[in-house]
Amino acid sequence: MQSGFLATWQQGGDFHCLSQKVVCVGRNFAEHAAELHNPVPTEPVIFIKPSTALVDFTQAIPLVNDTPLHYELELALLIGQPLRRANEAQCLNAVVGYGLALDLTLRQVQQQLKQQGHPWEWAKAFDGSCPVTPFVLSDASSQPLSAAHFQLRLDGRLQQQGEVRQMIFSPGQLLAYISQRISLLPGDIVLTGTPAGVGPLALGSQLQASLNGEYSWATQVVAAR
Ligand code: ZN
Repeated sequence: MQSGFLATWQQGGDFHCLSQKVVCVGRNFAEHAAELHNPVPTEPVIFIKPSTALVDFTQAIPLVNDTPLHYELELALLIGQPLRRANEAQCLNAVVGYGLALDLTLRQVQQQLKQQGHPWEWAKAFDGSCPVTPFVLSDASSQPLSAAHFQLRLDGRLQQQGEVRQMIFSPGQLLAYISQRISLLPGDIVLTGTPAGVGPLALGSQLQASLNGEYSWATQVVAAR
């Protein structure tokens, strides 16, 4: 067991018992907004995945049907104290750990929903759509949250690379913005947006996610049963 991880998240992996929701942010990296032909937002784009979306990152990803399933690797913040209309400093104090998560997205379904002006949940909130790694305690990593960086390799090739410094809205700004309307509770998780390089998963795809060059987790894509 690596030191620095939150013990509660190592025991059993029944994550949805601890988290009531995952609040996600779209288009928080300028290059990713551009690759999907979206404008760079002036306010964060917010959506939610329910607790039933959460699964252990290292569990194999089932390819559910023949519509494209995209990976988006994102920095995930674990909230440890209630946040309601909180300022940035209060929000950052409430982050007890950070890790990585995949915001799995049925991309073609999402494009159709966007065209129709509908919510994105049908493309992004399905069971298992949020594989999450263990969380590194904020004070146990060699990197403060503001300097965190992460990478995704797909079949050995570097596919995504992100740093907190490249975010359009910083973690503190995001949490303060979210907490104006959506209270964050202990155990809730906030995904902070994906950098450029998203793409489809294929049967047999091997994914490796690494955080700060210190921690790394692997998973693979299998046929849904
Ligand atoms: Zn995302």
